[in-house]
Amino acid sequence: MPSQLLTKSQYLAGLQCRKYLWIQVYEPEQVPQTDTVTQYVFDQGHLVGEYAKRLYPGGIDIPQDDFTENIVTTKKLFAERRPLFEAGILAGRIYCRVDILNPVNENEWDIIEIKSGTSIKDVHIDDVSFQKYCCEKAGLKIKTCKLGFINNQYVKNGEIDPQELFVLEDISARVEEVSESIEERVADLLEVLSNKVCPDTAIGRHCLAPYECPLQVECWGFLPENSIFDLRGGKTKQFSLYEQGILSIKDIPGHIPLSRQQKIQKECVSTGKVHVEKDEIRQFLKKLKYPLYYLDFETFGQAIPIYDGTRPYQDIPFQFSLHVVESEESQPLHHSFLAQGTEDPRPQILHELKSLLGFEGSIIAYCSGFEEGVLKGLVEAFPQYTAWLKGILTRMVDLLSPFANFHYYNASQKDTVSLKKVLPAVSGRGYEEMTIGAGMDASVAFARIACGNATEEEIAKVRADLLNYCRLDTEGMIWVADELRRLSN
Ligand code: SF4
Repeated sequence: MPSQLLTKSQYLAGLQCRKYLWIQVYEPEQVPQTDTVTQYVFDQGHLVGEYAKRLYPGGIDIPQDDFTENIVTTKKLFAERRPLFEAGILAGRIYCRVDILNPVNENEWDIIEIKSGTSIKDVHIDDVSFQKYCCEKAGLKIKTCKLGFINNQYVKNGEIDPQELFVLEDISARVEEVSESIEERVADLLEVLSNKVCPDTAIGRHCLAPYECPLQVECWGFLPENSIFDLRGGKTKQFSLYEQGILSIKDIPGHIPLSRQQKIQKECVSTGKVHVEKDEIRQFLKKLKYPLYYLDFETFGQAIPIYDGTRPYQDIPFQFSLHVVESEESQPLHHSFLAQGTEDPRPQILHELKSLLGFEGSIIAYCSGFEEGVLKGLVEAFPQYTAWLKGILTRMVDLLSPFANFHYYNASQKDTVSLKKVLPAVSGRGYEEMTIGAGMDASVAFARIACGNATEEEIAKVRADLLNYCRLDTEGMIWVADELRRLSN
């Protein structure tokens, strides 16, 4: 086996799990392909990186396509003493690419790592610490390490202002702290890469942080159906049970204290029955006053805001679906809105909702705090709707409530009460056939057609998928409410 380089991303993978590092390098076919949501996050990161370069005018963008060429060009450019973007640094068997290397004083450099998030995380410090180690091994003198991240209080007004968009924080002291034993860590991970055999690492909390490991399907596959990792209530109890050798919910011994929800889960898994609390469901249903308005929003948030008056990652609604059921005997009427073009959709959404939501009757949403938050955000930007919103908020009812309170539970929901699991459990119908089957997929799909270079054909397809998806969210709520009525009789 030839000597394998250790790159920055491999170092971070290795810090999380040595097995993950080994598989990433030697059996990459085992690592599932990047999904569209993750890819979108990467793309946002690249875009953010482009804006960050504007903080250092006169910088040189070093082409990245050719690995060796990038390293050779970087070396040549050191003498120019200008900011370098994407500088490739190779030192023995370790390699990194630095977002921005900025010359300071006569012969020193600052490392500036750019992140598309809105705060500094421990993993970023490890990331920069590896870069510093690599640069110093290559002979560079590093003065300061900085992390540039997104200022989520920045409000776009015309052209993006990079000085306002980014927060640049000096993280040198934190980098210094974690750098203490970096030499040993790097040596250890290089050893992993020198080994022909994959490390036999057991599953644990490290599979979940700092990133969800993509190999979980493989490594966690030995767990039985309805495993203790499907138990509600957080990881502490799950891992504590796992460490005691208990794998299945039904095998949890009687002396182990469980919450009310966990006891219901155990009962359902053990008996195969569905848990239904008729009285409580009846009480909930009494809150629903006709006409019933089933409402769902889809939103998207961008690292670089695209509409004036909005902030990075602000949730901007681009779509809603509304089913209206006038009375017990009526058939539902469907209304929908999906933003067109690149205009800010918020004024039109407010205009349409004001004419559709009437003055009385329950407005039902699943996890209504989200819809309420979207409405409040809309009215914050367009305060002329403040009085209208007051009336709307008093009519909101959360269809999540009977499920969050476990008045209904079906073991097929596992540990979640999201509509994506509750709808199939309750009605037998679900999202499997849909091209877009989750809120994040919808956000990414819309962002791509709103800000990308999609063809007319792609736009038409995505719009059709979005309309189908959001419609199912509100139609599904009707089915759920109908089923709750049937179950409570
Ligand atoms: S799932 Fe866990 S044990 Fe398996 S490679 Fe990933 S982090 Fe390591």
